[in-house]
Amino acid sequence: MKKIAFIGAGNMARAIVIGLVNSGVTPSDIIVANPSPEKRLALANEFGIMHTDDNIKATEFADIIVLSVKPHFISDVCQQLTKACDISQKLFISVAAGRTVAQIQQALACNAAVVRVMPNTPSQLGFGMSGLFASPEVNDEQKAASGKLMSAVGKIIWLETESKINDVIAVAGSAPAYFFLFMEAMETHAKSLGFTDEESRMLVQQTALGSAQMVAHNSESISTLRGNVTSKGGTTHAAIEQFKADGIELMVKNAMNAAIARAEEMA
Ligand code: NAD
Repeated sequence: MKKIAFIGAGNMARAIVIGLVNSGVTPSDIIVANPSPEKRLALANEFGIMHTDDNIKATEFADIIVLSVKPHFISDVCQQLTKACDISQKLFISVAAGRTVAQIQQALACNAAVVRVMPNTPSQLGFGMSGLFASPEVNDEQKAASGKLMSAVGKIIWLETESKINDVIAVAGSAPAYFFLFMEAMETHAKSLGFTDEESRMLVQQTALGSAQMVAHNSESISTLRGNVTSKGGTTHAAIEQFKADGIELMVKNAMNAAIARAEEMA
């Protein structure tokens, strides 16, 4: 098994470590590096993985280095890693939003193999959706290893071009918040209809969960599933017609395009 180092022991590193350990990766093949002893010890003690405060030591230990620090630390961290031996032979996986392959390779001062990943927050529960882009230096074995690594926290798709990462941000990366916003609006109105806070939360949460499960467990299109529960002239039909009259399709399209535009600005 390849050895894996995480540079940064935060939420995303934790999500992936949980997935890897649960999928049978030997904990002693994983090392986490973080300057904060509390952060790295919390992960190390819980999962029996190795830990260090030395990013260079972690990099030298591993074949695959997961850059799991906040985007504004990526350049400094990569520049620091140039002091490690053989970095041009290693695979770097970056989960940092808005940091391009070219920026990472420039900071590493070599044409290292880099896979850029755009995950989303449900990865923390193993229900993530990630888009992956591999730089031309990534070989087949490294591509398979990165796919396996991110599959430990959810589903993955491979992207042909790096710019598609921004589209994944619009459709999946930022999208949990769209669903939260919709659920929040429903919960607010449920309360105004007289349901208690607890009842409102449960009504919305269970309906969202059940609907997502129906999509996940059905081969029919989402459109067909909606049609199946929308009898002409019925209550659901009345609600759907109102959504359409208020321009929901345009609203969703504009919101997703706004996310793409912001991602492009931030790159
Ligand atoms: P986080 O703040 O929880 O974790 C980052 C960790 O890096 C912290 O523990 C911090 O102490 C550590 N750190 C800071 N400087 C360091 C250094 N020089 N060397 C080693 N460690 C250092 O952040 P997160 O939510 O885990 O996000 C990490 C990356 O994942 C970000 O780039 C973010 O864009 C990306 N991401 C996260 C999510 C998510 O669901 N959390 C989703 C998409 C993308």
